[in-house]
Amino acid sequence: MTKQISWISAFTLAGFYLASCSSTAPTQTQPVTTAETTAITTTTTAAAPAPKQNKGVGIDRANLDTTQSPCVDFFQYANGGWIKNNPVPAAESRWGSFNELQDKNYAVQLAILTEAAANRTAPKGSNTQKVGDFYASGMDSVAIEKLEVMPLKPYFDKVAAVRDVRSLLTTAAQLKKSGVSGMFSFYIGQDDKKSTEYAIFLNQGGLGLPDRDYYLKEDDRSKNIRTEYVKHVKNLFALLGDDTTTAGKNAAKVMELEIRLAKASRTRVELRDPQANYNKMTLAELQKLTPATDWTIFLTQLGVKGTKEVIVGQPAFFKELNTMVKSSSLSDWKSYMRWHLIHSTAPYLNKAFVQENFNFYGKVLSGTKVLQPRWKRVLRTTDAAIGEAMGQLYVEKTFTPEAKARALEMVKNLRDAFQEHVQTLDWMSETTKKQALVKLDAFAVKIGYPDKWKDYSALAISRGSYVVNVLHANEFNFNYDINKLGKPIDRAEWGMTPPTVNAYYNPSMNEIVFPAGIMQPPFFDPKADDAVNYGGMGAVIGHEITHGFDDQGRQYDAEGNLKDWWTKTDAEQFTKRADMVVSQYDAYEVLPAIKVNGKLTLGENLADIGGLNIAYTALQKALAGKKKEKIAGFTPEQRFFLAWAQIWRVNATEQYFNQQVQTDPHSPGRFRTNGPLTNMPQFYEAFGCKPGDKMVKPAGEQIKIW
Ligand SMILES: [Zn+2]
Repeated sequence: MTKQISWISAFTLAGFYLASCSSTAPTQTQPVTTAETTAITTTTTAAAPAPKQNKGVGIDRANLDTTQSPCVDFFQYANGGWIKNNPVPAAESRWGSFNELQDKNYAVQLAILTEAAANRTAPKGSNTQKVGDFYASGMDSVAIEKLEVMPLKPYFDKVAAVRDVRSLLTTAAQLKKSGVSGMFSFYIGQDDKKSTEYAIFLNQGGLGLPDRDYYLKEDDRSKNIRTEYVKHVKNLFALLGDDTTTAGKNAAKVMELEIRLAKASRTRVELRDPQANYNKMTLAELQKLTPATDWTIFLTQLGVKGTKEVIVGQPAFFKELNTMVKSSSLSDWKSYMRWHLIHSTAPYLNKAFVQENFNFYGKVLSGTKVLQPRWKRVLRTTDAAIGEAMGQLYVEKTFTPEAKARALEMVKNLRDAFQEHVQTLDWMSETTKKQALVKLDAFAVKIGYPDKWKDYSALAISRGSYVVNVLHANEFNFNYDINKLGKPIDRAEWGMTPPTVNAYYNPSMNEIVFPAGIMQPPFFDPKADDAVNYGGMGAVIGHEITHGFDDQGRQYDAEGNLKDWWTKTDAEQFTKRADMVVSQYDAYEVLPAIKVNGKLTLGENLADIGGLNIAYTALQKALAGKKKEKIAGFTPEQRFFLAWAQIWRVNATEQYFNQQVQTDPHSPGRFRTNGPLTNMPQFYEAFGCKPGDKMVKPAGEQIKIW
């Protein structure tokens, strides 16, 4: 992923039933995302009233495992009770704090959706009408069963009509517009080296499995997944009406093409280098690299006008794709496109398709036992498709000016703490420090929900076909992005919807963003003491701030441009320390013989280590001059670390962990909890840990960067 938004948890991006996004940039609107409404202004809030803190709120002793020493495995000590009592529900592949809170948010959203769907008199074109009709169409299982794949006929007809390379490209472009995956990834985003302008990005992609490694690794688990995948592709072809032999042949051809694409793809670690994945080319240069692919046809079809340049992520991938377009038979490509069309739409069709899609992506890949209830699946799709329409209704019900003011105050305290840390760093020169502080000072902060909501007026949603609503929403969002080309950067835009339990840093905007959805217990509780809130939400804020200075974020300057502002020595000093973080996490074993990938997770681990350190400093500032009281037997420092552990409590299936290690830049919760703590003498002191204890590193090995 070239343009990398860094988020706190992969949780909301890992929906098992949404088609896996191979190399799409999270910056861009994901397919199945829509738009919406009128501009409203955020309530500005001045001073936050001091909340009444209730003793004992925030940490529940029943969640602990006091038979474990905090100095041996803090994750187990802090979460052992919870882990024992909260197995993964049958309809999930993982279960943790993020899921628990998201479920609470779902309950609020469900009430909104049910009410909107019951309202048959909402003005046509209003948010309520769109949200209500979208949800109603997804809940109408009788109509969905009756229609089967009929609503997709015009799309399949286009694929069937492909007769040469030219029409292949035209059709590929048309499908891309509707959010159908295939061949490569295309999106509009800020130019990494000219952050005041939008640019077209072309990246590797086109795979049905979650990563290129799934196609290439030779271990038994990977081989088994490939076998099951080909079966799944075959089953979907059979559901579309192919006889068994034809379905089998077509599935084999799809696999052949995808293996070639996978071989030409870079690894996720290679994709973490923003310079290496930034190759700006004129259209003429791109045409020369890929002579068989007529980009003018493709771009015109997408509605792109007057663009002279594109940013190509991985030129070698496009060279290979070009060879494939030239040399593979049209009939193979048509199978491939049929597959991606049904792959992208299966979750929104009748039961046979939904179940087959779930059997592979839910059961085989993620270890989920049963399908989620329909209302939850449709709710999540509504959020992905027209999230700001629903989100607007959500914040009206849930988000208070007080919550916003408290969050702003915490962000300010965390920024101040980060500034202090930079000023006192012993490994960085004054020259680089000055630049780091300029960047920190330029951070934009977004809290709760957008000041200006997306305008969905050009999107038509009806109570007709559910899958057509999804495709129309995709097309609307696609056009919305295309329309940005040539216009000033929309700095009010959000990359997550308000009910989302997550947060992110966007390097091109140089901004940190916290949706309303995450600012609730166990992350933030107005009734809890500072220690709990700084160990939870404070560390989340610190994490996002640190992303601006992790191995990728540090390569972007205060204006969001990919531009080196480090002296050579300081960069070397940083890398030396970052390499130690890589080694530390490389050693963590997730499943027998499966370890964390220290290079893939580096940015997130740096953000966790830095974020927790600055949150600790911010807490000490908040506690200064106050009497340090024990609550429920714990000092404020102990409660701070317990709160940190609590947000990462998680149970997951073996399949989930296997997928996480290969595709997710975040380490599993156990290591996110323990990893930073083993580097913090403040932690040893809080729990009386001694040299020789497992959680304690010798002085020379403790890593502190920020
Ligand atoms: Zn992160």
